[in-house]
Amino acid sequence: MDVVGTVEDLREALGGDSCVLVPTMGALHGGHESLLRLGRAVADDHDLPLAASIFVNPTQFNDPSDLERYPRPLQADLELLLRTGVEIAFVPSAEQIYPPDDPLAAPQPELPAVATEPGLEDQARPGHFAGVCRVVSRLFDLFDPEAAIFGEKDWQQLRVVSAMVATQGRSVEIVPCPTAREPDGLAMSSRNVRLTPETRPKAAALYRGLIAAQNEADPGRAVEALRSAMVAAGIEVEYAAVRDAEMLTRVPPGPVGGPWRVLGAGCLDGVRLLDNAAWPA
Ligand code: AMP
Repeated sequence: MDVVGTVEDLREALGGDSCVLVPTMGALHGGHESLLRLGRAVADDHDLPLAASIFVNPTQFNDPSDLERYPRPLQADLELLLRTGVEIAFVPSAEQIYPPDDPLAAPQPELPAVATEPGLEDQARPGHFAGVCRVVSRLFDLFDPEAAIFGEKDWQQLRVVSAMVATQGRSVEIVPCPTAREPDGLAMSSRNVRLTPETRPKAAALYRGLIAAQNEADPGRAVEALRSAMVAAGIEVEYAAVRDAEMLTRVPPGPVGGPWRVLGAGCLDGVRLLDNAAWPA
């Protein structure tokens, strides 16, 4: 595995070839591992190298203390990349992604409408998707990947990235990967290490709320089922919603259509939790 930190070394490692890319912020867990394993299979199908990036992107954090506290266990991360068959690991500094002397290297892409749907991530984390679009666009410029793997755990992000590449006319295929979960259903996340022995069991209430929502026949009752499961566990609700799965627009009242998605986000003792599921099941 080539571990490279600069744009110049990355170009040399790619040698003019395309690749399959798994972008991450590190602190890798079982969710990332499933992305990497899917990435390996896609890369084998296309006879391309598998690349992964580890970059804690400052422009997508709207809370400076969240950025500061973000875990960075680089050695363990590199071991996982090696184990999953990654051939090129890109671990850049912020200056390589956002060169101070070349502001045009990483321009701010136009935000797709799905990024700013009211009542979802943009309300909870203003500016977050602008940062995501900027870094993903920069990584796509650098890697020119044939395919890139993104997790369904961050459903709105998956839709934002898909819409952005369509607008930009990029040929990269965005491949979704199902959410990896702990045995009690909690979606794996780099932030879960910050849950305490008291709060950890309560965190699975978000998943249980999604399942309860899936068992309701009406979107309004589904949202209420999710919200009350979160509140009962002490999760401060940022949003609970049933939306169109692709555009994340509000769903009309009346007969159930689809494909729709139930989504929830909230804070448990200062730790942000985020999850979603197909709706109805
Ligand atoms: P992050 O390192 O948190 O920016 O995540 C990098 C990628 O891993 C994103 O595409 C996420 O959606 C994906 N991801 C994070 N957690 C999970 C999970 N539990 N299951 C599947 N994918 C995940």
